[in-house]
Amino acid sequence: MPGTLFLVATPIGNLEDVTARAVRILGAVDLVAAEDTRRTGRLLQHLGITKPLRSYYDAVEQARAPGLVRELLAGKSVALVSDAGTPGIADPGYRLVRAAIAAGIVVVPIPGPSAIAAFLPVSGLPADRFVFEGFLPARRGERRRRLAALAAERRTLVFYESGRRLAGALGDLAEIFGPRPAAIGRELTKLHEEIVRDDLVALAARYEGSAVRGEIVLAVGGAPQAAAPVVAEDLEDEIRRRRAAGETVRDLAEAIASARGVNRRVVYRLALALEHQRR
Ligand code: SAM
Repeated sequence: MPGTLFLVATPIGNLEDVTARAVRILGAVDLVAAEDTRRTGRLLQHLGITKPLRSYYDAVEQARAPGLVRELLAGKSVALVSDAGTPGIADPGYRLVRAAIAAGIVVVPIPGPSAIAAFLPVSGLPADRFVFEGFLPARRGERRRRLAALAAERRTLVFYESGRRLAGALGDLAEIFGPRPAAIGRELTKLHEEIVRDDLVALAARYEGSAVRGEIVLAVGGAPQAAAPVVAEDLEDEIRRRRAAGETVRDLAEAIASARGVNRRVVYRLALALEHQRR
């Protein structure tokens, strides 16, 4: 009989959040596949559990999944855990799950903490429909393009972010999305847990130039229902402002089009016409 693959959620900070079922399963499996064996080793030690550990992290997912599937097929039961929260959510797991499913192995969830599930309901933003965008690109140009593509999204948007990059991300969000309601959850369930709710422009000003410590979830309200009617002068002003800030005609056309629900080519042509006037 093949073994079972369990995806076991672990605490995102507070060890009291480990579930009774997670403890039972971790104690019962034959081996534990862990993103960081030292970190998971400490958790197991805290729980009084001793198990063989296999390392399974992003860079080796592709290479290690077949070996784990072979052990499962040989009858061993495996618990997959990540450093924190739910495996597979912005964490390794997907490839192993795919390989296990393809081999006919039963994959069982052992649900528990996840930063997104912990934060969204307390953010004060609608949680009935939302999009989880994971981490934004680290490079500014790419990040701005991603945000421009999301500007017309009506559902609440949720991002994972590092403290180091929070100020940069908020600056771009405020510029591209405007003063929408947003919330920041920092160090959730930990000693220095902090939740800040404000609009994006105020949040960008609050964090500008400062590196924040810790792990962060960022939730942003969706695009407002009725977009304000587009006034040509406003459009021209925004184009001039963005050009003066160094944005390319192509990038600003994309950003404005998404944010205002205007055809990109219309903005592009208008921007080119303004360019010619300047010369
Ligand atoms: N699998 C995890 C989950 O289910 O939430 C997420 C793993 S992802 C690699 C790590 C990111 O999750 C962090 O950079 C941060 O954005 C978010 N995160 C994890 N723990 C957090 C916490 N205690 N408070 C706020 N954000 C957290």
